[in-house]
Formats: sequence, C-alpha cells, structure tokens
Amino acid sequence: MDINNDFIDFNNFKMITDVKQYKNKLVIEINKNYETAVILDYDTYLEDNKLFFSHDLLKNIHKKRIESLKSGILNLISINVSQNLVNKYTNRKTYYISGSSQIPLIGHTAFGLIDRGTNIIQVRGLSGCNINCPFCSVDEGKHSKTRKNDYYVDMDYLVEEYKKIVEFKGNKRIEAHLDGQGEPSLYYPLPELIQNLNEINKKGDGLVSMQSNGVNLSYKLIDELEEAGLHRINLSINAIDEIKSRMLSGSKTYDINKILDIAEYIKNSKIHLLVTSLLLPNINDEEFKKVIDFAVELEQKNPQNIINPITKKKNPILGVQMCLSYKFGRKIKKMKSWKLNAFYELLREYEQEYKNKGITVNLDLSKFKAFGTHKRKKLPSPFKLNEVVKTKVVLDGRVTGEVMGVAKNRIIQIININKNYQKLEGKTVNVKINRVQDNIIVGQKI
Ligand code: SF4
Repeated sequence: MDINNDFIDFNNFKMITDVKQYKNKLVIEINKNYETAVILDYDTYLEDNKLFFSHDLLKNIHKKRIESLKSGILNLISINVSQNLVNKYTNRKTYYISGSSQIPLIGHTAFGLIDRGTNIIQVRGLSGCNINCPFCSVDEGKHSKTRKNDYYVDMDYLVEEYKKIVEFKGNKRIEAHLDGQGEPSLYYPLPELIQNLNEINKKGDGLVSMQSNGVNLSYKLIDELEEAGLHRINLSINAIDEIKSRMLSGSKTYDINKILDIAEYIKNSKIHLLVTSLLLPNINDEEFKKVIDFAVELEQKNPQNIINPITKKKNPILGVQMCLSYKFGRKIKKMKSWKLNAFYELLREYEQEYKNKGITVNLDLSKFKAFGTHKRKKLPSPFKLNEVVKTKVVLDGRVTGEVMGVAKNRIIQIININKNYQKLEGKTVNVKINRVQDNIIVGQKI
C-alpha cells in the first residue's frame, strides 16, 4: 500500500484483477474467477482501479485518519477474501489456500499435489469447472448436486510445495500434470504457474502438461502458455456435431467450432496437442469416431514434430478412453456399460480401417508407454490404516457430510460428519484413518 496517497491503488495488488463499485458496495474480483464484496461506510468513488475518498470527507478529516481508513478497508477486503470468496463459475464458496494458511497440499483430491508413485506429479491449483458434462466423474460445474465448496491454491505456495516433492523423487524426467476436479485452464495466473513448474522440471529433462476442456482457451492464452514452456495440452473433445457436443458439455454456450479452431491453433504451436475423447457407449458412438477422424486428419495435415523430453520420441495425437461410472460422479441414464475388452476390440477395428487406407494410428496407448510414465520413489504415508489421529479441523468439506482436517503435514478428508462445519472449525478431533493409498487420506471421526 502506498501510504503517501489519499487513495487505495488496487493495481498494486496482483491478486485483485478487477474492482467495481455499486453505491457503497465494492465488488472485488480475485484472480479472474472469484469475487468478494465489501460494504463501505465512507463516501468514496472508484477511478482506474483506485479508490478515492470524497472531497468532502478529505476536507474534514485528519491525514492520519485517512491512513487508518485505508488500512481498515484493506483489512476488510482481506477478511472477505478468506471468508466470503465465491467462484464466479460455480457460485460456490471458495477457500483461498496460501502458505500462511498452514494447510498442507498433500492429502485431498480436490486441490494440491498428488504423487501416485510414478514420474507424474498431479498439480491441482483449483477446483471448479466452467461446464457441466452430464457424465462428469467428479460432479463438477454449477449444476453439481454434491459439491458445496471450491478451493484455490496460491501460486507461490503451490510451486514451493511442488519443488519439495520433486526434490524427494529426484529431479529426473518428472512430469507436472495439471488436472483436477475442475478445469485447469481457469487457474490464474496460468502462464506464470506453468513457467515456474517448467523451470524446475526442465533441469531434469522433465515437462509440464495439462488437461483442458478448451472453453477458456484463446489464441492469446495459447501463445502465453507456449512462451511459458508448456509441453502438452490434453484437449477433451467428445463430439463434433454442434447439438451433441453441447449436450455432452452440459452448457448452452459450448461452441465446438471454437474448440476445433483452438485445437488447430495448438497444433500449429510448439505445444503438443493430444486430442482426448471418451466413448460413452450408446450416447456418442458415431461422434467418438468422428473425433478420431478429426484428430487423424489434423495430424495428416500438420504432422507432429514435437519431441517429448522424457521419451525422446514424438507424442501420439490421440488418447481415447471409455467412460466409466463413479460413485460420486454423474451418469447419463441411457449410457450402456461395456466390458473393456469390447472397447479395445473397437479400437483395433478402427486402427485396421486406417491401416487399410495406409495410415498408422495407435489408439490403444496402454501398449506403448507413449508418455514415458514409469515408477518412481513415492512419498511415504505418515499414517497407517486404522490408526487414530488427533486432527485439527481447518476447512469445510468438498461435499456435505465432510470436513477437512490437518495432521502430520497432510490434509485429511473426514467423512460421515453429521455436524455443521462451524461447530467443528478449529477443534481437534480423533480420526480413524481408513484410506492412505497414494497419500490421499480419508478418515472418520470417532
Ligand atoms: S470438463 Fe471435466 S471437470 Fe468439467 S464438467 Fe466436464 S468432465 Fe467434469
């Protein structure tokens, strides 16, 4: 804060990306996708992201008092960011997790870092999605019936903690993969995050990759991500037809033509494009094949020449999977469930079809170790199954009936809670641990 001025300059606060004033209400945009509002008791006006006190007020009060008014307003904003932040896409309360919050980034799948014992570290800077796919495995987007809170992790904290895991695993051929319970491209500032992760990984011939549904991608953002050193975007496309693709996105504004255009733009950049598609049997069977045709055609037009520093080979253009059902996910009623064998049989048929035309396409990537994924030293779990741990409750949960607690430098998902979070907040409770796999820690209050 510039204490010599009679105004507050919001341009000096990196996380404040916009400010609007409606009478005495100040609506503050945080990192593009979040918002909080404060009510001001003083006569003020906003100009160029600067908050001025009215001339009448300035005339009548002492200079020192102005300073305390400014500090008071900034304090109010800071309290509101920590207590009343809302995700503009999902309308959910959002917890802003920074280094000073002392909330560990390992332990939960909604945010932070996941090490599953390979060379890939999953990086989850936020939860929350801008679309609402009716088959979403994590019931994301604003239509979600189960998710009640979102989380955002401050970039410096995320990078700092990421670095510690890389050091533990050995900085050799590490892939930072931005994915999550939400849309990774909504993270702000994304290019800076990618650049920071890439600075670390490239020292050991590693890379940074991310998943995206493409809706938030623009030419400008792609240019910035290219500049930041992003290696690969896994772009999810599940149908080519306008109506069908809109239905599969659960969003009235989803525009497949824009996504296909972005796919082509990525293909022309130094970022590798991996078109990812899901087969939803009985729902998008024909469209699934059309997506494969689109990717193959794109590859024919503009053959891939980016070398993966981990495999020292070129990456494939396609990554296809079959949609599975998950306990807390959404399901399309008419979707059939297929055995995996039937899916791989279908892929072989498609591969043969292309082969007959003289085109080699590998659709079953499990055979090829296409991305160089390999086993690596895994962070040890500080807990044993059935151990009872004193856990401090620090955050409300992702879903109803859940809160989050901290113990032994892990965030613990405490399930089957029948009390309000407010009644447990800050309290220490006994938790019996019933999941430790991959350092995703779940327990039950006893
Ligand atoms: S883009 Fe991914 S996270 Fe978002 S709703 Fe669709 S499946 Fe879920």
